[in-house]
Amino acid sequence: AKTLGARSIQFFSASDDEAAARRRALERDLSSALANDQLWLAFQPFLDLGNDRIRGFEALLRWQHPTLGPIPPSEFIPIAEETGLIHSIGHWVVKTACLAAARWPRDLRVSVNLSVLQLKNKTLLDGIVVALAEAGLEPRRLEVEITETVLISNFEETISFLQSLVSLSVTVALDDFGTGYSSLTYLRKLPLSRLKIDRSFVQDMLTDADCAAIVRSLVELAHELRIEVTAEGVETPEQLDYLRCVRCDEAQGYLIGKPLRIGEIPGIAAEPVGQ
Ligand code: C2E
Ligand code: CA
Ligand code: CA
Ligand code: CA
Repeated sequence: AKTLGARSIQFFSASDDEAAARRRALERDLSSALANDQLWLAFQPFLDLGNDRIRGFEALLRWQHPTLGPIPPSEFIPIAEETGLIHSIGHWVVKTACLAAARWPRDLRVSVNLSVLQLKNKTLLDGIVVALAEAGLEPRRLEVEITETVLISNFEETISFLQSLVSLSVTVALDDFGTGYSSLTYLRKLPLSRLKIDRSFVQDMLTDADCAAIVRSLVELAHELRIEVTAEGVETPEQLDYLRCVRCDEAQGYLIGKPLRIGEIPGIAAEPVGQ
């Protein structure tokens, strides 16, 4: 792996546009990243605001490139999608997250992010079923997070896929709610257990009265629809207080816990699983 990474750097002449060169290097190296154990999962906790207990963890993908160092998912997930690698990588994420969660206390769930392209792959459902069975994880302990942008193309197909998951007892969360193409239709038609309010709302809600009203109303609306609410990107005790005050169900963010290697989380089984 190391020689491959080094070679990819030397391959391009100095006149190459740096960003384009980096992009090509990443494109090529991502295909072997999985086989070379460069991918790993960080886990970030969800805090239950009702009882102050940790309810579970979200799996966040990490790529440690041998020469370029850590590559953020915002940079390599789009590459994985364009190259089609997202299917094998996404399957590895589900499998690894299920194996990890199977070692946690049984009241903790794990959530994984699913990309738009993954939902189009007919083998995803089978992959999830097999991952759950092989890990011995109860399906109700797995949640999938999808973003609104995922939904724009073939809505009906997405609904039926999500319904298949729900019939297995896997739960579905709508991620980054409030950004992009939010539509109340999604809340009405998708079999959602959870709505995750985007970090941008949490960031502004204490300085912007309109933003505070949106957060408060979203929680109310979701509860009317029997959907739980998780606020993302909580960084201050004041934000946490406000969220408690408006009866938000869960909080996630640096204040509660940064994404960590599973072995670094206190009280959680440290045996390495695919890491
Ligand atoms: P996301 O699902 O919305 O994940 C939340 C992002 O916010 C994570 O960034 C997390 O590290 C960051 N974050 C959490 N708490 C805080 C906070 O208090 N303050 C701030 N400033 N940031 C916080 P990360 O890990 O860089 O992931 C970025 C995005 O990449 C994710 O956004 C998700 O859309 C995508 N992603 C990550 N892992 C996977 C994966 O396995 N599959 C797919 N398809 N996408 C993934
Ligand atoms: Ca997410
Ligand atoms: Ca999010
Ligand atoms: Ca996001």
